[in-house]
Amino acid sequence: MSISNINWPEIENKVYMQTFKRLPVTLVRGSGMKVWDSNGKEYLDFFAGLAVDCLGHCHPAVVDALTKQAKTLIQTSNLFYTIPQTQLAELLVNNSCLDRVFICNSGAEANEGAIKLARRYGKLKLNGANEIITTHESFHGRTLATTAATGQAKFQEPYVPLPNGFINVDYNNISTIKAATTKSTCAVMLEPIQGEGGVNVPDDDYLKQVRDWCNEKGILLILDEVQTGIGRTGTLFAYEQYGIEPDIMTLAKGLGGGVPIAAFLSKENVTVFKPGEHGTTFGGNPLVCAVAVAVLNYIIENDISSNAKVVGQYFIDKLKKLAAKYDYITEVRGKGLLLAIGFNADISEDIVLKCLEAGLLVNNVKPNSLRFIPPLTVTNKDVDKAVEILDKVLKERK
Ligand code: PLP
Repeated sequence: MSISNINWPEIENKVYMQTFKRLPVTLVRGSGMKVWDSNGKEYLDFFAGLAVDCLGHCHPAVVDALTKQAKTLIQTSNLFYTIPQTQLAELLVNNSCLDRVFICNSGAEANEGAIKLARRYGKLKLNGANEIITTHESFHGRTLATTAATGQAKFQEPYVPLPNGFINVDYNNISTIKAATTKSTCAVMLEPIQGEGGVNVPDDDYLKQVRDWCNEKGILLILDEVQTGIGRTGTLFAYEQYGIEPDIMTLAKGLGGGVPIAAFLSKENVTVFKPGEHGTTFGGNPLVCAVAVAVLNYIIENDISSNAKVVGQYFIDKLKKLAAKYDYITEVRGKGLLLAIGFNADISEDIVLKCLEAGLLVNNVKPNSLRFIPPLTVTNKDVDKAVEILDKVLKERK
Protein backbone atom coordinates (compact mmCIF):
# COMPACT_ATOMS: atom_id res chain seq x y z
CA MET A 1 0.00 0.00 0.00
CA SER A 2 1.35 3.45 -0.90
CA ILE A 3 1.89 5.90 1.96
CA SER A 4 -0.55 8.34 0.38
CA ASN A 5 -3.43 5.85 0.80
CA ILE A 6 -3.00 5.66 4.55
CA ASN A 7 -4.71 8.14 6.88
CA TRP A 8 -1.73 8.76 9.19
CA PRO A 9 -3.43 11.42 11.38
CA GLU A 10 -6.32 9.01 12.06
CA ILE A 11 -3.87 6.35 13.32
CA GLU A 12 -1.88 8.92 15.31
CA ASN A 13 -5.07 10.18 16.99
CA LYS A 14 -5.65 6.68 18.36
CA VAL A 15 -2.16 5.87 19.59
CA TYR A 16 -0.19 9.04 20.34
CA MET A 17 -0.67 11.21 23.45
CA GLN A 18 -2.66 14.18 22.23
CA THR A 19 -0.43 16.94 23.58
CA PHE A 20 0.28 18.67 20.26
CA LYS A 21 -2.03 20.76 18.11
CA ARG A 22 -0.65 19.48 14.83
CA LEU A 23 -1.08 20.93 11.35
CA PRO A 24 -3.10 18.58 9.13
CA VAL A 25 -0.23 17.19 7.05
CA THR A 26 2.14 14.25 7.41
CA LEU A 27 5.63 15.25 6.33
CA VAL A 28 7.69 12.49 4.77
CA ARG A 29 10.71 14.07 3.06
CA GLY A 30 12.86 17.20 3.06
CA SER A 31 15.62 18.76 0.97
CA GLY A 32 17.11 22.21 1.50
CA MET A 33 14.32 24.76 1.94
CA LYS A 34 11.58 22.32 0.97
CA VAL A 35 9.54 19.51 2.53
CA TRP A 36 6.97 17.16 1.01
CA ASP A 37 3.89 15.56 2.56
CA SER A 38 2.58 12.00 2.17
CA ASN A 39 0.50 13.10 -0.84
CA GLY A 40 3.58 14.48 -2.59
CA LYS A 41 2.64 18.12 -2.03
CA GLU A 42 5.64 20.50 -1.75
CA TYR A 43 6.06 23.23 0.89
CA LEU A 44 8.55 26.06 1.28
CA ASP A 45 9.75 25.71 4.88
CA PHE A 46 9.90 28.94 6.93
CA PHE A 47 9.35 26.89 10.09
CA ALA A 48 12.50 24.71 10.00
CA GLY A 49 11.46 22.22 12.68
CA LEU A 50 10.90 25.11 15.14
CA ALA A 51 14.20 26.88 14.38
CA VAL A 52 16.19 23.63 14.44
CA ASP A 53 17.04 22.79 10.82
CA CYS A 54 19.55 25.62 10.48
CA LEU A 55 21.15 24.30 7.28
CA GLY A 56 17.83 23.23 5.76
CA HIS A 57 16.71 19.63 5.34
CA CYS A 58 19.16 16.79 4.79
CA HIS A 59 22.12 19.12 4.20
CA PRO A 60 25.14 17.14 2.88
CA ALA A 61 27.27 18.30 5.86
CA VAL A 62 24.70 16.76 8.24
CA VAL A 63 24.04 13.61 6.23
CA ASP A 64 27.74 12.91 5.60
CA ALA A 65 28.72 13.35 9.26
CA LEU A 66 25.74 11.31 10.44
CA THR A 67 26.30 8.38 8.10
CA LYS A 68 30.09 8.35 8.58
CA GLN A 69 29.79 8.40 12.39
CA ALA A 70 26.93 5.84 12.34
CA LYS A 71 29.35 3.42 10.68
CA THR A 72 32.11 4.22 13.20
CA LEU A 73 30.80 4.59 16.77
CA ILE A 74 27.33 5.58 17.97
CA GLN A 75 27.20 5.42 21.77
CA THR A 76 29.71 4.74 24.53
CA SER A 77 28.30 6.41 27.70
CA ASN A 78 30.21 9.24 29.34
CA LEU A 79 32.47 6.92 31.28
CA PHE A 80 34.85 7.00 28.31
CA TYR A 81 36.48 9.84 26.37
CA THR A 82 35.28 10.21 22.79
CA ILE A 83 36.77 12.27 19.99
CA PRO A 84 33.56 13.93 18.58
CA GLN A 85 32.48 15.13 22.06
CA THR A 86 35.91 16.57 22.82
CA GLN A 87 36.06 18.24 19.38
CA LEU A 88 32.60 19.78 19.83
CA ALA A 89 33.43 21.14 23.28
CA GLU A 90 36.68 22.63 21.95
CA LEU A 91 34.85 24.27 19.01
CA LEU A 92 32.24 25.78 21.32
CA VAL A 93 34.87 27.09 23.75
CA ASN A 94 37.05 28.52 20.94
CA ASN A 95 34.08 30.35 19.41
CA SER A 96 32.35 31.70 22.52
CA CYS A 97 33.22 33.60 25.69
CA LEU A 98 32.66 30.49 27.84
CA ASP A 99 35.28 28.04 29.08
CA ARG A 100 33.56 24.73 29.78
CA VAL A 101 30.85 22.65 28.13
CA PHE A 102 28.39 19.93 29.16
CA ILE A 103 26.49 18.23 26.35
CA CYS A 104 22.95 16.90 26.73
CA ASN A 105 19.87 16.12 24.65
CA SER A 106 17.32 18.97 24.68
CA GLY A 107 16.88 22.63 25.48
CA ALA A 108 14.98 21.87 28.67
CA GLU A 109 17.75 19.55 29.81
CA ALA A 110 20.42 22.18 29.08
CA ASN A 111 18.45 24.67 31.17
CA GLU A 112 18.04 22.12 33.97
CA GLY A 113 21.82 21.73 33.97
CA ALA A 114 22.31 25.51 34.00
CA ILE A 115 19.88 25.81 36.93
CA LYS A 116 21.66 23.06 38.85
CA LEU A 117 25.05 24.70 38.23
CA ALA A 118 23.73 28.09 39.42
CA ARG A 119 22.26 26.48 42.56
CA ARG A 120 25.46 24.60 43.25
CA TYR A 121 27.39 27.88 42.85
CA GLY A 122 24.90 29.58 45.20
CA LYS A 123 25.36 26.85 47.76
CA LEU A 124 29.17 27.00 47.66
CA LYS A 125 29.86 30.68 46.96
CA LEU A 126 26.76 32.73 47.85
CA ASN A 127 25.87 31.49 51.34
CA GLY A 128 23.33 28.98 50.06
CA ALA A 129 21.45 31.40 47.77
CA ASN A 130 19.21 29.33 45.46
CA GLU A 131 16.56 31.58 43.89
CA ILE A 132 16.60 32.33 40.18
CA ILE A 133 14.86 35.36 38.68
CA THR A 134 13.27 34.70 35.27
CA THR A 135 10.82 36.71 33.17
CA HIS A 136 7.17 36.70 32.17
CA GLU A 137 6.56 35.45 28.60
CA SER A 138 9.82 33.49 28.74
CA PHE A 139 10.11 29.87 27.66
CA HIS A 140 12.74 27.57 29.12
CA GLY A 141 11.30 24.06 28.60
CA ARG A 142 8.81 21.46 29.79
CA THR A 143 10.50 19.74 32.74
CA LEU A 144 9.19 20.72 36.16
CA ALA A 145 12.05 23.10 37.01
CA THR A 146 12.08 24.71 33.56
CA THR A 147 8.29 25.02 33.71
CA ALA A 148 8.73 26.91 36.99
CA ALA A 149 11.35 29.06 35.25
CA THR A 150 9.00 29.67 32.30
CA GLY A 151 7.04 32.78 33.25
CA GLN A 152 3.74 31.79 31.61
CA ALA A 153 0.79 30.70 33.74
CA LYS A 154 -0.68 28.46 31.02
CA PHE A 155 2.34 26.14 31.21
CA GLN A 156 2.57 26.23 35.00
CA GLU A 157 -1.03 25.89 36.21
CA PRO A 158 -1.64 22.25 35.19
CA TYR A 159 1.38 21.13 37.21
CA VAL A 160 1.37 23.04 40.49
CA PRO A 161 3.01 22.55 42.90
CA LEU A 162 6.19 23.28 40.92
CA PRO A 163 9.73 23.28 42.34
CA ASN A 164 10.20 26.51 44.29
CA GLY A 165 13.00 29.03 43.94
CA PHE A 166 11.88 30.74 40.72
CA ILE A 167 10.69 34.36 40.71
CA ASN A 168 9.02 35.46 37.45
CA VAL A 169 9.17 39.22 36.76
CA ASP A 170 8.42 41.51 33.80
CA TYR A 171 10.84 41.31 30.85
CA ASN A 172 12.67 44.33 29.46
CA ASN A 173 12.42 46.21 32.75
CA ILE A 174 15.53 46.23 34.93
CA SER A 175 13.65 47.63 37.92
CA THR A 176 11.60 44.40 38.26
CA ILE A 177 14.82 42.37 38.51
CA LYS A 178 16.28 44.82 41.03
CA ALA A 179 13.12 44.66 43.14
CA ALA A 180 13.10 40.84 43.12
CA THR A 181 16.79 40.42 44.07
CA THR A 182 17.37 39.31 47.67
CA LYS A 183 20.08 37.55 49.65
CA SER A 184 18.56 34.28 48.37
CA THR A 185 19.12 35.15 44.67
CA CYS A 186 21.84 33.17 42.91
CA ALA A 187 21.07 34.02 39.26
CA VAL A 188 19.02 35.84 36.65
CA MET A 189 18.00 33.68 33.67
CA LEU A 190 16.87 35.28 30.40
CA GLU A 191 16.45 34.76 26.68
CA PRO A 192 18.32 37.55 24.81
CA ILE A 193 15.20 37.71 22.60
CA GLN A 194 12.09 35.87 23.82
CA GLY A 195 11.21 33.29 21.15
CA GLU A 196 8.14 31.30 22.19
CA GLY A 197 6.79 34.36 24.03
CA GLY A 198 6.20 35.98 20.64
CA VAL A 199 9.64 37.16 19.39
CA ASN A 200 10.07 39.99 21.91
CA VAL A 201 13.21 42.05 21.36
CA PRO A 202 14.29 43.98 24.47
CA ASP A 203 15.55 47.57 24.45
CA ASP A 204 19.20 47.84 23.35
CA ASP A 205 20.47 48.59 26.87
CA TYR A 206 18.40 45.99 28.81
CA LEU A 207 20.86 43.09 28.77
CA LYS A 208 23.75 45.42 29.65
CA GLN A 209 21.73 46.74 32.61
CA VAL A 210 21.03 43.17 33.75
CA ARG A 211 24.71 42.27 33.38
CA ASP A 212 25.77 45.33 35.43
CA TRP A 213 23.19 44.46 38.14
CA CYS A 214 24.40 40.86 38.34
CA ASN A 215 28.00 42.12 38.65
CA GLU A 216 27.01 44.56 41.38
CA LYS A 217 25.23 41.83 43.37
CA GLY A 218 27.73 39.07 42.62
CA ILE A 219 25.01 36.85 41.12
CA LEU A 220 25.11 34.87 37.87
CA LEU A 221 23.65 35.76 34.49
CA ILE A 222 22.32 32.71 32.62
CA LEU A 223 21.45 33.35 28.96
CA ASP A 224 19.09 30.83 27.39
CA GLU A 225 20.29 30.89 23.77
CA VAL A 226 18.45 27.66 22.91
CA GLN A 227 16.56 29.54 20.17
CA THR A 228 18.78 32.61 19.56
CA GLY A 229 22.12 30.75 19.44
CA ILE A 230 24.01 29.19 16.50
CA GLY A 231 23.64 32.12 14.10
CA ARG A 232 19.88 32.63 14.34
CA THR A 233 19.98 36.35 15.16
CA GLY A 234 22.85 37.27 12.82
CA THR A 235 25.84 36.48 15.06
CA LEU A 236 26.90 33.05 16.30
CA PHE A 237 25.43 33.94 19.72
CA ALA A 238 22.98 36.77 20.38
CA TYR A 239 24.93 38.07 23.42
CA GLU A 240 27.65 39.28 21.01
CA GLN A 241 25.29 42.03 19.80
CA TYR A 242 24.68 43.43 23.27
CA GLY A 243 28.26 43.99 24.47
CA ILE A 244 27.95 41.54 27.36
CA GLU A 245 29.07 38.05 28.33
CA PRO A 246 26.92 35.56 30.27
CA ASP A 247 28.28 33.41 33.11
CA ILE A 248 26.29 30.43 31.81
CA MET A 249 24.74 29.93 28.35
CA THR A 250 22.44 27.21 27.07
CA LEU A 251 22.17 25.99 23.46
CA ALA A 252 20.03 23.44 21.62
CA LYS A 253 17.84 23.81 18.49
CA GLY A 254 20.34 24.75 15.73
CA LEU A 255 23.31 23.07 17.39
CA GLY A 256 22.84 19.72 15.65
CA GLY A 257 21.21 20.92 12.41
CA GLY A 258 18.29 18.56 13.13
CA VAL A 259 19.70 15.88 15.39
CA PRO A 260 18.77 16.11 19.10
CA ILE A 261 21.64 17.72 20.96
CA ALA A 262 21.96 20.57 23.46
CA ALA A 263 24.62 22.04 25.71
CA PHE A 264 25.27 24.34 28.59
CA LEU A 265 28.49 26.31 28.82
CA SER A 266 30.01 28.21 31.71
CA LYS A 267 32.87 30.47 32.73
CA GLU A 268 35.73 28.74 34.51
CA ASN A 269 35.11 30.46 37.88
CA VAL A 270 31.45 29.38 37.84
CA THR A 271 32.11 25.73 37.00
CA VAL A 272 31.88 24.29 40.50
CA PHE A 273 30.60 20.80 39.61
CA LYS A 274 32.65 17.90 40.91
CA PRO A 275 32.66 14.40 39.37
CA GLY A 276 29.33 12.71 40.05
CA GLU A 277 27.34 15.93 40.64
CA HIS A 278 25.73 15.95 37.18
CA GLY A 279 25.44 13.37 34.43
CA THR A 280 23.65 11.84 31.44
CA THR A 281 23.63 8.53 29.60
CA PHE A 282 22.86 9.65 26.04
CA GLY A 283 24.10 13.24 26.25
CA GLY A 284 27.15 14.01 24.13
CA ASN A 285 27.21 10.67 22.34
CA PRO A 286 29.59 10.39 19.36
CA LEU A 287 26.77 10.27 16.78
CA VAL A 288 25.14 13.63 17.57
CA CYS A 289 28.43 15.31 18.49
CA ALA A 290 30.00 14.41 15.12
CA VAL A 291 27.00 16.03 13.41
CA ALA A 292 27.17 19.14 15.61
CA VAL A 293 30.90 19.49 14.84
CA ALA A 294 30.10 19.36 11.11
CA VAL A 295 27.22 21.85 11.47
CA LEU A 296 29.23 24.31 13.56
CA ASN A 297 32.25 24.11 11.23
CA TYR A 298 29.98 24.69 8.22
CA ILE A 299 28.32 27.69 9.88
CA ILE A 300 31.62 29.26 10.91
CA GLU A 301 33.54 28.54 7.68
CA ASN A 302 30.72 29.80 5.45
CA ASP A 303 29.74 32.70 7.74
CA ILE A 304 26.13 31.53 7.78
CA SER A 305 25.44 33.90 10.70
CA SER A 306 26.06 36.84 8.34
CA ASN A 307 23.65 35.31 5.84
CA ALA A 308 21.06 35.29 8.63
CA LYS A 309 21.76 38.97 9.24
CA VAL A 310 21.72 40.10 5.58
CA VAL A 311 18.77 37.99 4.39
CA GLY A 312 17.03 38.74 7.69
CA GLN A 313 17.24 42.48 6.95
CA TYR A 314 15.95 41.90 3.40
CA PHE A 315 13.07 39.92 4.91
CA ILE A 316 12.30 42.64 7.49
CA ASP A 317 12.14 45.27 4.71
CA LYS A 318 9.71 43.07 2.75
CA LEU A 319 7.57 42.45 5.84
CA LYS A 320 7.48 46.19 6.52
CA LYS A 321 6.16 46.70 2.97
CA LEU A 322 3.40 44.17 3.71
CA ALA A 323 2.66 46.02 6.97
CA ALA A 324 2.31 49.26 5.00
CA LYS A 325 -0.11 47.51 2.62
CA TYR A 326 -2.32 45.76 5.20
CA ASP A 327 -3.38 47.91 8.12
CA TYR A 328 -4.24 44.87 10.24
CA ILE A 329 -0.48 44.12 10.50
CA THR A 330 0.49 46.14 13.56
CA GLU A 331 4.16 45.29 13.96
CA VAL A 332 7.26 43.70 12.42
CA ARG A 333 9.73 42.52 15.07
CA GLY A 334 12.81 40.36 15.53
CA LYS A 335 16.49 40.11 14.60
CA GLY A 336 18.29 38.11 11.94
CA LEU A 337 16.07 35.17 11.04
CA LEU A 338 13.98 35.18 14.23
CA LEU A 339 11.15 37.37 12.97
CA ALA A 340 7.45 37.93 13.58
CA ILE A 341 4.56 40.08 12.45
CA GLY A 342 1.78 41.09 14.81
CA PHE A 343 -1.90 41.45 13.84
CA ASN A 344 -4.63 43.56 15.43
CA ALA A 345 -6.73 40.39 15.99
CA ASP A 346 -6.29 36.69 16.78
CA ILE A 347 -6.03 35.53 13.16
CA SER A 348 -2.63 33.84 13.00
CA GLU A 349 -3.94 30.25 13.20
CA ASP A 350 -6.16 30.90 10.20
CA ILE A 351 -3.29 32.55 8.28
CA VAL A 352 -1.01 29.57 9.02
CA LEU A 353 -3.62 27.16 7.59
CA LYS A 354 -4.09 29.32 4.47
CA CYS A 355 -0.31 29.52 3.98
CA LEU A 356 -0.11 25.73 4.38
CA GLU A 357 -2.73 25.29 1.67
CA ALA A 358 -0.70 27.66 -0.53
CA GLY A 359 2.54 25.68 0.10
CA LEU A 360 4.28 27.73 2.81
CA LEU A 361 5.09 26.59 6.36
CA VAL A 362 5.02 29.36 8.99
CA ASN A 363 4.29 29.33 12.73
CA ASN A 364 1.54 31.01 14.76
CA VAL A 365 3.71 31.80 17.75
CA LYS A 366 0.82 33.68 19.38
CA PRO A 367 -2.87 33.97 18.47
CA ASN A 368 -2.10 37.41 17.03
CA SER A 369 1.46 36.83 15.75
CA LEU A 370 3.14 34.85 12.97
CA ARG A 371 6.75 33.75 13.44
CA PHE A 372 9.30 33.17 10.63
CA ILE A 373 12.28 30.95 11.52
CA PRO A 374 13.58 29.58 8.20
CA PRO A 375 16.85 27.70 7.74
CA LEU A 376 19.80 30.12 8.07
CA THR A 377 20.82 29.19 4.52
CA VAL A 378 17.67 30.86 3.11
CA THR A 379 18.19 33.19 0.13
CA ASN A 380 16.54 36.48 -0.93
CA LYS A 381 14.81 34.46 -3.66
CA ASP A 382 13.25 32.13 -1.06
CA VAL A 383 12.12 35.20 0.90
CA ASP A 384 10.55 36.67 -2.28
CA LYS A 385 8.62 33.43 -2.81
CA ALA A 386 7.45 33.24 0.83
CA VAL A 387 6.37 36.88 0.86
CA GLU A 388 4.54 36.40 -2.45
CA ILE A 389 2.51 33.54 -0.92
CA LEU A 390 1.92 35.47 2.29
CA ASP A 391 0.82 38.54 0.33
CA LYS A 392 -1.78 36.47 -1.57
CA VAL A 393 -3.10 34.96 1.67
CA LEU A 394 -3.27 38.37 3.38
CA LYS A 395 -4.98 39.92 0.35
CA GLU A 396 -7.76 37.30 0.45
CA ARG A 397 -8.43 38.15 4.10
CA LYS A 398 -8.67 41.87 3.54
N1 PLP B 1 14.56 27.51 25.78
C1 PLP B 1 14.10 28.19 24.73
C2 PLP B 1 14.48 29.64 24.56
C3 PLP B 1 13.28 27.59 23.78
O1 PLP B 1 12.82 28.27 22.74
C4 PLP B 1 12.95 26.21 23.96
C5 PLP B 1 12.07 25.53 23.00
O2 PLP B 1 11.36 26.12 22.24
C6 PLP B 1 13.47 25.53 25.07
C7 PLP B 1 14.27 26.22 25.97
C8 PLP B 1 13.15 24.08 25.31
O3 PLP B 1 13.85 23.31 24.39
P1 PLP B 1 13.42 21.76 24.16
O4 PLP B 1 12.07 21.78 23.54
O5 PLP B 1 14.51 21.24 23.26
O6 PLP B 1 13.43 21.11 25.49
